[in-house]
Amino acid sequence: MKDQQFEYDVLVVGAGNAACSAAFAAMDQKAKVGLLEKAPKHDGGGNSTLTGHMRFVFSGFDDVRPIVKNMTDDDLRKLLEKVPQRTEEQLWEEFMHVTANQTDQELLQVHISESLNTIKWLATKGHDWVPSHQISDNILSMNGGGYGLIQRNFKILEQLGAKFHFETAATDLIQDDQGRVVGVRALTPDGVAIFKAKSVVLACGGFEANPEMRAKYLGPGWDTVRVRGVPFNTGDGLRMAMAIGALPHGSWTTCHAAPQDIELPPFTTPSAYAVEGNDWVRYMYYLAIMVNTNGERFIDEGSDTRGKTYAKMGRAILAQPGGVAYQIMDSKIRNMNLYHFNYKNATTAKADTLEELGAQLDINVPNFIRTVREYNAAVQPGKFNPEKHQLDGKGTAGLTIPKSNYALTIDEGPFEAWPVRCGITFTYGGLKIVPETGQVQHVAGRPIQGLYAAGEMVGGLFVGNYPSGSGMMAGATFGRMAGNGAGKSAMQR
Ligand SMILES: Cc1cc2nc3c(=O)[nH]c(=O)nc-3n(C[C@H](O)[C@H](O)[C@H](O)COP(=O)(O)OP(=O)(O)OC[C@H]3O[C@@H](n4cnc5c(N)ncnc54)[C@H](O)[C@@H]3O)c2cc1C
Repeated sequence: MKDQQFEYDVLVVGAGNAACSAAFAAMDQKAKVGLLEKAPKHDGGGNSTLTGHMRFVFSGFDDVRPIVKNMTDDDLRKLLEKVPQRTEEQLWEEFMHVTANQTDQELLQVHISESLNTIKWLATKGHDWVPSHQISDNILSMNGGGYGLIQRNFKILEQLGAKFHFETAATDLIQDDQGRVVGVRALTPDGVAIFKAKSVVLACGGFEANPEMRAKYLGPGWDTVRVRGVPFNTGDGLRMAMAIGALPHGSWTTCHAAPQDIELPPFTTPSAYAVEGNDWVRYMYYLAIMVNTNGERFIDEGSDTRGKTYAKMGRAILAQPGGVAYQIMDSKIRNMNLYHFNYKNATTAKADTLEELGAQLDINVPNFIRTVREYNAAVQPGKFNPEKHQLDGKGTAGLTIPKSNYALTIDEGPFEAWPVRCGITFTYGGLKIVPETGQVQHVAGRPIQGLYAAGEMVGGLFVGNYPSGSGMMAGATFGRMAGNGAGKSAMQR
């Protein structure tokens, strides 16, 4: 067995977007930085590798021009016609709306006011943005998506002198007599190693890949749910921090969970994603209706724009018999070319009549036919317009469960159905931090000296629901805050 002792100014646990942002910021403070990553290098980078967007405030062309490299001014102006700006007030309203006013407003204030600064700061680290190829109100994506972002992060951080320890899982925090965190114990392929540090940043994700914690906090049925992301985020950082008195914060009973193809695998790895991409998301529900195996609708599919409803749809589907739903559409949508690109490989059923379609599904056919007829009769006139990422107000009238927007009748064959299930993306429950420094709060009401947290590990921002692109934005912003805080504190010691 090797004697394994390492020493850094700042030790970052994790190697996703929040961790790498913290590492960059700590290095801005001239700190010597080490990163621990549980996964092997080819599967490193966490859920961040599987992403596309960050949701940030911008006031128009001048704000985004510096971060978009490979686009002419004219093309960029044209792209901005879809979503010309996102003001601080708008983003504030979105968060308050989707979380039913339950978001932590101190965190939100920093999240919003620092979002554009963080994007521009990431650009100084070597990142750029390109037009999004998805139907999303985040019209720009990271170049190469989250996978590209993480590969660049690994390369640039290593060039700057950061040291990555792959296949190294942090297991415990080490404290001195005063309660200050002074390092981490970790399991490596060669046994247990001690990593000493002046500051430790925990950025090792939530507990979405831990069935025991899912059952404990999210409730019955969540233990067997499939995971959209990596298998490595098993709540280790939360457990380690709470073991020394870190204060839990935010919503531990809700999570981000979205409609996925019925064939969604149990989890995804970055190396599999690099070859196959992510083909499982099924986000056409807002242009469709969803029915359960009883043939009944169970939720307003068009209560808001897609980016503000998809993260709560998984929970609604999981609550249906067998945890299954069908998305139902007719040929009108197909002919409008509005299909999400992922649907070309979707599990599907297709038939010329609703009766024939129903016969192909595991569904109560008479109820299903009645549901579609009642829905069709309730659709109100108006202009169907999903393309500008705004509500079109074309809804139903008189149904117990309305469809508030994007309601088109389902009456022109061929008809199509997609069986979907819930896939958990990440958990919302986390630790209480000081937003400006990322310092973790102790249950005694004081910050824990030497301990910082970022990314999915921070609780309070997301409650019950979530606006798309906010996980990566929060990870980058609070990663930057935590890296700054940890780096400054370490360099003063
Ligand atoms: C399929 C998919 C698509 C998504 N798309 C988007 C999107 O477009 N926009 C958006 O904003 N959000 C998106 N999200 C959510 C987003 O991925 C998260 O909000 C974000 O990645 C969180 O970043 P993080 O750094 O906290 O966690 P992660 O990126 O998951 O990183 C956590 C890291 O910690 C490591 N780790 C875990 N335990 C230990 C341990 N004990 N020791 C050492 N290392 C450990 C993991 O291996 C991992 O590298 C998506 C998620 C999924 C699954």
